[in-house]
Amino acid sequence: MNEVVLDVASIGFGVQSSTILLLAANDIIERPDYSVFVDLKRESIEVYDYIEYFKPYLRERGIEVQTYSTVDILDHVLNYETNDRTSGIPLWFIAPSTGKVTGLNRQCTFDFKIASVEKTIRQRLGQRQLKRHSIRVWQGISTDELGRCKALYTGKFRINHYPLIDIYANITAPGNRWVNYSRFNCIEAFKKAGLKTPPKSSCIFCPFHDILYWIHLRDTQPAEFELCCQLDEAIRNYKDLEYGPFYLLKWCIPLRDADLDKLAYKKFGNDAKFDFEGCNSGFCFV
Ligand code: SF4
Repeated sequence: MNEVVLDVASIGFGVQSSTILLLAANDIIERPDYSVFVDLKRESIEVYDYIEYFKPYLRERGIEVQTYSTVDILDHVLNYETNDRTSGIPLWFIAPSTGKVTGLNRQCTFDFKIASVEKTIRQRLGQRQLKRHSIRVWQGISTDELGRCKALYTGKFRINHYPLIDIYANITAPGNRWVNYSRFNCIEAFKKAGLKTPPKSSCIFCPFHDILYWIHLRDTQPAEFELCCQLDEAIRNYKDLEYGPFYLLKWCIPLRDADLDKLAYKKFGNDAKFDFEGCNSGFCFV
């Protein structure tokens, strides 16, 4: 392995990646050389509000988060056909051969999120340095999401690093009571610090969202929910694609007409509302 010369935290301002910043700001873990938030312009209002809320806390403790933004992913999805059908989001459709629900290949994460983080690294170090060195890219994955940790080596120069798992595996936080950073304990860490809990982070219309997310969006952010309904209708019959029609909901039904409460009840029974804690992670935090 090449010498590690840079530590970069990939931040989405959801629960887990915000916990990395919280711990670094309080010197419970080491600090990354820099942190970057790749903004595809379509996070929920809750996320943008939380960024404004949390940044001063971090700034006071010497942590800045760089925002990197080159694309509005909504524009990209709406103009998918004229964009040579690249960087698609994982829309759902019924595969004609099997009659089963399946998803389009997810290219957006790599093309927009991972590539953007790598661009910030190239800007800092230059291609020549990258040939001889490794870069650790920190991702917010909690101990209850172990299965989401990918191979350590993920490119010519990028090594994945999971600080919340690392703390658990190595017990490297002396005196810190919350060594096991499960999602629950991440939230507890924010409460203990007297801070609001970070919201769910990801594109508002990501087809990977679960039913409880859609109910939450419908009930708390009607304008954004309406935007998702319009997008869902716009992508229904992407022309010149072999498959389709396409949907944002994995049940392959129109979002506007879906009885979301009934779908949630089928899945969770009466506890549906109480299960909503949101979130996921990796580069996309879904
Ligand atoms: S959150 Fe979903 S739609 Fe957005 S980049 Fe990631 S996978 Fe694609």
